[in-house]
Amino acid sequence: MSHLIVVALGGNAILKANQPGDFGEQLANVYESSNPIVSLLRHGYQVVVTHGNGPQVGNILIQNEEANKVVPAMPLYVCGAESQGLIGYMIQQALGNELKRVGLDRPVVSLVTQVLVDPADPAFDKPTKPIGPFYTEKRAQKLMSERGFKMVEDAGRGWRRVVASPEPKAIVEGPAIKALVAAGALVVASGGGGIPVVSRESRLEGIEAVIDKDLAAMRLASDLDAETLLILTDVPGVAVNYGKPDQKFLKSITPAEGRAYMSEGQFKAGSMKPKVEAALRFVESSIDGRRRAIIGSLEQAAEAARGEAGTTVQA
Ligand code: ADP
Ligand code: MG
Repeated sequence: MSHLIVVALGGNAILKANQPGDFGEQLANVYESSNPIVSLLRHGYQVVVTHGNGPQVGNILIQNEEANKVVPAMPLYVCGAESQGLIGYMIQQALGNELKRVGLDRPVVSLVTQVLVDPADPAFDKPTKPIGPFYTEKRAQKLMSERGFKMVEDAGRGWRRVVASPEPKAIVEGPAIKALVAAGALVVASGGGGIPVVSRESRLEGIEAVIDKDLAAMRLASDLDAETLLILTDVPGVAVNYGKPDQKFLKSITPAEGRAYMSEGQFKAGSMKPKVEAALRFVESSIDGRRRAIIGSLEQAAEAARGEAGTTVQA
């Protein structure tokens, strides 16, 4: 079997900063983002795509809130499923069209993906991930008492719901994804970190949480036993002293070097830190030292896959 790359697309692949996010705009971005993936396929790599969903699920939550007197609001995990469908549809169509255009006729399929979490994960004791719209204090009080939401005041901007961000334990549809990949399909899976589910008496059910998309990508790449985890974002790679005059992008680091930078606090929580953590864990869990992770920019995906751009983490 050929070299499998799990590609994690960042938020900028679907919606750029300051764009309001109407459908045409998002689709145009997705078309642009499909080029680097097409290029990976042309180079002979097998690819599984995953992606973020922050702005999209945020908008779905606003729609739920604004329409709550007319149609019942859906649980957060259902909003996550909706966002996977919305984004998966765009990627599936854009990639399908672009592949056909370059004569690479391949089945493209996006999969509604559940990700198993542990109901005893300590993250559930202290929800920290802010999601969805800002509320007035009055509305926040009502949501706390009626729907059991945990809400916090966010730096004078209003009240916001916070949810747990538990560890992804397993990709429920992992075996299905493997079968599709083996059959030659290009699979889009585990969007937005996947739909968090727990197992109770051997049955799966949704749980209110958000799984970090980079850690879910690491889980996906590990479960599929991929050779490469390629995390694509809006910066050329991982920098030390980021944003300071002596900022320096790293070309290649070992897991030990990455851990050392981590403990120096070089990477910002919620943005670069989860990417580096995902990359380190993916490589550290390699049994034969074959796994590598690369963090780089969307534009330089093909160069990054060859190790000529981005930051490579390798033993
Ligand atoms: P994505 O949607 O791709 O997950 P994020 O905004 O979560 O994007 O993460 C990428 C951002 O991480 C960059 O835009 C950059 O501002 C930030 N960042 C924080 N620390 C670092 C660092 N040490 N090196 C590079 N980028 C960093
Ligand atoms: Mg991010």
